[in-house]
Amino acid sequence: MTQTDVLVVGAGPTGLTLACDLARRGVAVRIIDRAPEFPRGSRGKGLSPRSLEVFDDLGVIEPMLAAGATHLRHRKYRGAEVVAEVDPEAGVVPTPDRPYPTGLMIPQWRVEQLLRERLADFGVAVELDAELRGFDQHADGVTATVGQSRIQARYLVGCDGGRSTVRKALGLSLRGHTPDVQLMAVGDVEVDGLGRDAWHQWFTGDGAIMLCPLPGTDAFQVQASHEVDQDGAPLEPTLARFQQTFDRVAAVPGVRLRDLTWRSSYRVNVRMVDQLRVGRVFLAGDAAHVHPIAGGLGMNTGVQDAYNLGWKLGLVLAGHATPSLLDTYEEERLPIASWLLDITSERLDAVLDAIKHTGGGVDAVAAPELSQLTLGYPWSRLSVRAASPAAGVRPGDRAPDATLRDPVTGSPVRLFDLFRGPHFTLLGLGERGGAAPNCAETALVTSYLVGPGGLLDADGHAARAYGTGALVLVRPDGYVGLVADAAQPQAVAGYLRSL
Ligand SMILES: Cc1cc2nc3c(=O)[nH]c(=O)nc-3n(C[C@H](O)[C@H](O)[C@H](O)COP(=O)(O)OP(=O)(O)OC[C@H]3O[C@@H](n4cnc5c(N)ncnc54)[C@H](O)[C@@H]3O)c2cc1C
Repeated sequence: MTQTDVLVVGAGPTGLTLACDLARRGVAVRIIDRAPEFPRGSRGKGLSPRSLEVFDDLGVIEPMLAAGATHLRHRKYRGAEVVAEVDPEAGVVPTPDRPYPTGLMIPQWRVEQLLRERLADFGVAVELDAELRGFDQHADGVTATVGQSRIQARYLVGCDGGRSTVRKALGLSLRGHTPDVQLMAVGDVEVDGLGRDAWHQWFTGDGAIMLCPLPGTDAFQVQASHEVDQDGAPLEPTLARFQQTFDRVAAVPGVRLRDLTWRSSYRVNVRMVDQLRVGRVFLAGDAAHVHPIAGGLGMNTGVQDAYNLGWKLGLVLAGHATPSLLDTYEEERLPIASWLLDITSERLDAVLDAIKHTGGGVDAVAAPELSQLTLGYPWSRLSVRAASPAAGVRPGDRAPDATLRDPVTGSPVRLFDLFRGPHFTLLGLGERGGAAPNCAETALVTSYLVGPGGLLDADGHAARAYGTGALVLVRPDGYVGLVADAAQPQAVAGYLRSL
């Protein structure tokens, strides 16, 4: 029997993000997937601004940005006539606090590939053809049966998708409903006769078809209403049927679909579990929640589940926190899952309403919350205020970026550069800030003074975002844990001891 600290089941975006976060902390991690080979279907094709910040922290942002595209135009047609065209993110530009203000169009398989490459930097590889069949929990860990072998792990995380074996083995069910919305056929094709400069969309009373160019490839993702048999039952998607739908709904002469490399049917579900932890076993990503794809939050929410859990497992395994810290994963992420079901259902309704009207399209999904930058954990026991309320961030908020200046070299320094890595970051803002507490736990913290004698806040970005005269402790996952008065550095030590 082999041993590891954490066994991650499932190597989709959720499992890969978790494995990267654990591996960079030096945690012994194994990640298994039952698939015999890595997937090549596009599936999710958008990363949210918040996911981009997570990937910045994990050191994989550059290849992600290079492989994706922003500001894709949405082109709506009636037949060959363009009836509307829009860039839903027109005018959205980076600001000091939001370096990645727009979503990134990128096929999910590419996200997974880049995360696997990052994981390889830490010496960890996905084990393919390795199906979790079951597990037993005991006081010290979990014994998992994987194929014919057994793996002993201190914790197991089920990132094994909507049909999760782990969830079923825990006896948890996805509660919710399956709305009576038609199935959607999806696939990856190449297309002759359409430009790659826009997401092409047709909606008629007789069906819908959309063709979205996938950056870094020659392919388009096709999403279409299903062809049906004489009884109205949906037929399995094929290249010929996608072409049939295109010819009927779009009817643009000279456009040919070819080289179908992946196809699937998608049914809307609005469901989630009511528990994310049972003993030493956790659920994350689609294993814990499934919802409409409107808003493209599935892959993104899995990434952020993983990012919330990674540092907590890391601290507990290293003996820097008690296992009760792990309870805050459910405390923080279950309300987010519930929000996710609500917002994606609402945005789906907005799209279904918009496409009834000429010029309407999937851009109707837009809502500020979909960036996931406004999400936080103000209700969490990890969000603590030890100072009178002042302007600036609140405990539980996402810690925004800001541009500072090195007082010696004069070079710009971004707060995200200071946050990057597995540590807590303590910002002392203003003249009295920066008095770092003196205790064993502060080994977990990197401290900076922003103000006289420290990093220069020349343009006032940090003061506007964080206020002044305060100590702000930023968690390893980029949320504000503690806001304390600058004169109370012992509050920081107290916070860290309480973990
Ligand atoms: C057409 C379409 C468009 C989408 N668009 C978006 C979008 O724009 N943005 C977005 O964020 N999301 C989007 N999604 C949703 C997104 O694809 C999913 O939410 C995402 O894949 C969930 O990631 P995951 O890692 O949790 O699970 P998955 O990606 O499902 O990965 C689970 C993995 O676990 C493995 N596994 C399962 N059982 C076992 C077992 N017993 N043992 C070992 N391994 C196992 C599977 O092989 C799989 O590799 C879209 C989905 C579709 C279909």
